[in-house]
Amino acid sequence: MPGEPQLESRHCGLADVSLYIHIPFCPSFCDYCDFYSETVKDGGRLDSFLTALIKDINYQLEFFGIEKIVTAYIGGGTPSVLGVRRIRSLLDELGKLKCFSPVEFTIEANPESADREFLTACREGGITRLSLGAQSFHEPSRKSVNRAGSVITLEECLSLAGTIFPQAFCADLLAGLPYQTEEVITDDIKRLLEFKPSHVSLYSLVTEDGTPLEDKVKAKMLTLPDTDAADNIWLAGKNALVSAGFEHYEISNFSAKGGRCLHNTRYWLMDSWLGAGPAACGTVVDEKTGTALRFTYVHDTDAYMKNPIIHNAVCEHLDRITLIKESLLMGYRYMEGPDSRKFRSRFGISAEECIPRTLERWKEKDKMLYLNKFLTEAFCELEM
Ligand code: SF4
Repeated sequence: MPGEPQLESRHCGLADVSLYIHIPFCPSFCDYCDFYSETVKDGGRLDSFLTALIKDINYQLEFFGIEKIVTAYIGGGTPSVLGVRRIRSLLDELGKLKCFSPVEFTIEANPESADREFLTACREGGITRLSLGAQSFHEPSRKSVNRAGSVITLEECLSLAGTIFPQAFCADLLAGLPYQTEEVITDDIKRLLEFKPSHVSLYSLVTEDGTPLEDKVKAKMLTLPDTDAADNIWLAGKNALVSAGFEHYEISNFSAKGGRCLHNTRYWLMDSWLGAGPAACGTVVDEKTGTALRFTYVHDTDAYMKNPIIHNAVCEHLDRITLIKESLLMGYRYMEGPDSRKFRSRFGISAEECIPRTLERWKEKDKMLYLNKFLTEAFCELEM
């Protein structure tokens, strides 16, 4: 149930936060996706949405007394459906904010809606990093999950991305798609790296409940690689990236030198972030007590546009032990683990002191690769 945020003075006067903006529109739906989004119906709706979004962001900044936005990320959905005029207008509005000086500002885009004009407008408007949904270079795999666009459009867009965002562009790939094999993913990575991305996210395809993918698999209209085959496809992708010099710095993320995503790193290290837009979530940490306020907007764009303020979000108080668990869960997704200095200053104890026996047992093992197993043991120890 939507409720009043637990506004207390300790949640105000935050110095540095990140900002996530959710654009809940896509040109069409991919069968595997369970993100909150709707198909674009008309431009007027996009304009009204942006008006609501700016109101939401301004309100949150004032509500929490934010001094500085250090990283920002526009995700979705498909932010590139906004087109040139609207993205310029959104970036102009953000640029007017006194506290808005991100060291990294990412936008997600899909190749079929990210042409030269759009990417140039992003660059001119202050975006520093582009994240492209590539997913696969294998047409049968793409088509089988209803992924829009073609490999030709993808390659054209990657080429533009390399020109307009030469220092920082990321591409997402999926492992475990129908018709995919270890050879196919290895070839995907070879083709992708020809465009010199600074970062690659390699996700395992998950059959989410209630998606068309789940229906098709249940109806035997589509066959996915079995669990072992899917794991081996992901591992083949990982090995190809690591052999090419990419650093595996988070369970699904690989970077060239200096190419880590700073915004997502702040999630993994549980730094405070604000979230704006339907389905967006924010987490504001109270450093003094080691607790946090989490707010999540409901999955309803109409309700959001009617009254886009944080008071309509669902709020939850994360007590100290919940935040410790979440900090371990997020932190060990990351190559270096939780930030020791921050962990100790927040909780009065280090991560190592919370789970010494588990860490001793896992000294020589790959925690990122077997994260669930590691966390099961860590949480058992924590509760002993
Ligand atoms: S484009 Fe992205 S957000 Fe939209 S349906 Fe496909 S995977 Fe989901």
